[in-house]
Amino acid sequence: MVGMRIADVQDEIDHELVSKEQIERKINEIAALVSEEYRDRDLLLVAVLKGAVNTLATFSQALSIPVQLDFMSLSSYGSGTVSSGTVTIRQDLSTDVRGRHILIVEDIVDSGRTLAWLVEELKRRGAASVEIFALLEKPSRREVEVDVKYHGYEIPDEFVVGFGLDYNERFRNLDSIAVLKPEVYQGVNA
Ligand code: 5GP
Ligand code: MG
Ligand code: MG
Repeated sequence: MVGMRIADVQDEIDHELVSKEQIERKINEIAALVSEEYRDRDLLLVAVLKGAVNTLATFSQALSIPVQLDFMSLSSYGSGTVSSGTVTIRQDLSTDVRGRHILIVEDIVDSGRTLAWLVEELKRRGAASVEIFALLEKPSRREVEVDVKYHGYEIPDEFVVGFGLDYNERFRNLDSIAVLKPEVYQGVNA
């Protein structure tokens, strides 16, 4: 057996929410739709670091059309754990997006503030079109409207890790999506 599974970190995991098989099945379905939709257009996939890297890797390899890939690192500051919508670019794209057809690949949409900002920014830079694929969404947490075109799974308002998503930079290489035990993030010094 290779890879990090729930069994390897079971002391810290409460339960699995989306299995590796479910993730792959959904990504393959969406890749088929996107391959058809962009058959006659050059597509640029933009992933927000670091959480979307696993989704981008699996998704891009499931596409049957050639695409370009680029990355952006963003941070949103706010009071406490809530993102404010004030987004700062930590690392920018290396691509000039003018006239490009872009599909943003995201791990999870929570308040929607980061994505709403990114869509506007890419349009401001002159992208020909900007669409979104989000592997996970927490509908109950949405604060701003974001037009997600390709939906993965809706999940409840719980903090999840795995398949790119971290808690304090841990669990990104877990092969499925899972809910942490509360004591892990409440921590010893909480
Ligand atoms: P938004 O701007 O939509 O509120 O923030 C979305 C970002 O917050 C995601 O891209 C992700 O980095 C982070 N995030 C939101 N919910 C979760 C979660 O349940 N687990 C983890 N690990 N990150 C999350
Ligand atoms: Mg993200
Ligand atoms: Mg994180």
